[in-house]
Amino acid sequence: MITPLEKYDPQIYELLRQEAARQSACIRLIPSENYVSKAVMAATGSCLTNKYAEGYPGKRYYEGQQVTDLVETLAIERAQKLFKVDHANVQSHSGAVANLAAYSAVAAPGETIMGLALPYGGHLSHGWKVNFTSKIFNSVSYELDPVTGQFDFNKIEELAMKHKPKVIISGASAYPRIIDFKSFGEIAKRVGAYHLSDIAHISGLVVAGLHPSPVPYADIVSTTTHKTLRGPRGGMLLCKAGLADAIDKAVFPGLQGGPHMHTISALAVALKEADSPEFVEYAKQIIKNAKVLADCLLEKGFNLFTGGTDNHLILIDLRNKNIPGKKLAKALDRARIETNYNTIPGDPAKPFNPNGLRIGTPAITTRGMKEEQMKIVASLIARVAENVDNEEVIAQVGRESLLLCSQFPVPEHFIMPAGTH
Ligand SMILES: *Cc1c(COP(=O)(O)O)cnc(C)c1O
Repeated sequence: MITPLEKYDPQIYELLRQEAARQSACIRLIPSENYVSKAVMAATGSCLTNKYAEGYPGKRYYEGQQVTDLVETLAIERAQKLFKVDHANVQSHSGAVANLAAYSAVAAPGETIMGLALPYGGHLSHGWKVNFTSKIFNSVSYELDPVTGQFDFNKIEELAMKHKPKVIISGASAYPRIIDFKSFGEIAKRVGAYHLSDIAHISGLVVAGLHPSPVPYADIVSTTTHKTLRGPRGGMLLCKAGLADAIDKAVFPGLQGGPHMHTISALAVALKEADSPEFVEYAKQIIKNAKVLADCLLEKGFNLFTGGTDNHLILIDLRNKNIPGKKLAKALDRARIETNYNTIPGDPAKPFNPNGLRIGTPAITTRGMKEEQMKIVASLIARVAENVDNEEVIAQVGRESLLLCSQFPVPEHFIMPAGTH
C-alpha cells in the first residue's frame, strides 16, 4: 500500500524508511534512547497535532477543547497516580524546558541555583556555563568525590551554606548509581532552598519501584518522558499541591505557548503502559542487563566509573585503553553499535574529546535481549576497542551485530513502519 507520505514526499519517506531500518539493524546503547510502542507512536502522529490548546483543562484561550481537555486530564491523572504525587504538569516540550520552568517558578533572575557540574554527569540545563540557565541565574556547581565517584554530601552542604542557593538540583545524565534524594532534600531544607529533583534518565526505574522516588523529598520533580519511561519526546513536572499554581504558570504562560496535544496524548498512553506488571518486569530486566554487561566489560579489562552500575547506565573509563572516546564511539557506530562519548568525572579532558563512553540497556531490553546477549554485546565492544584501526574486524563485528539484531527484532507492536499512520 502506498502511504500518503510516500506519495507526496518520497524523499522524506525514503529517509524515514532508512532510519527505521537503521534503528532495527543496530545495537542501540545510548542510555537516553528507547523504542516506543506502536500505540505511543500512533498517538504522537494523530490529529491532535492540528489543535491549539493554550491554557489548562477547563481554562483555555481557544474554543474546541471538548476532546483536548479530556486527553490532558487523563495524562495528568495517570502521572499523579503513577508517581504518587499531588500535581503533574504534562505540557513541557522537553526536559530542558521543564527545568527552566521549575527554576522560574521558585527563583527570580539573578538568584542562585546549584546543580551537578556537566563534566561530572550533570545536565546542561542544571546551570552549566554554556547554557542559558547560567546566564539568567547565578549558577554554582557541585562535583562528585574524585576517589569514590559518589556524592559528597558534606561538601555539597558546605557549598550550599556558602552560596545560599534558591534551588538545589539533584539528578544527573551520566550517573550509574542510586541517588540519595533524601540527603539532598535534607540539605535543601537546612539552607532554605527548594529541592528540584531531575529524574529524566531514571523515571522508568522510579515508577517501577526499582530506584527510590524523590517525590517525598523534593519540592519539584522534573523528568523527560522519552528515556526509560518509554514515552514520546517531552518533559513533565511533578510537585506538591502548594506549588501547583506556580509550576503551571511558569510553564504557561511563563515559557511556552500552545501545548503539544499530540505528544500529551502519547504521554497518556505511555503512562498507562508504565502502570503495568509488564513494565515492572521490563525495568527489572534493564537493570539485570546493565549489571551483566558491566561485569562482562570488567572481565574484558575495561575500567568502569564507580566500578559498575545500579541502574540502566554504564560509564566506561577508557584511559587505561588509550583510545579517545570519540574514536571508539565512531568505530562502534561502523560496527552497528550505537553509543555516545562522554566525559569521565574528574578527568580534565575537554567535553568534545573525552575519555569516556556512555552506554545503557533501555533500548536493547525493549527488544527482548537478556543476560545471555549482554555477554555477546560486551565481547563485540571489546573486539572493536582492540581493533579500533582495523576496518576488516570492525566490518566483521558489524555483521555479528546485525545477526544479533535479526534474532531480536524490534517487537511487532514497537515497530513503526515509516509513514503508515
Ligand atoms: C535528557 C536530560 C534532560 C533534557 O531533556 P531534553 O528533553 O533533551 O531537553 C534534562 N535533564 C537530564 C538529567 C537529562 O538527562
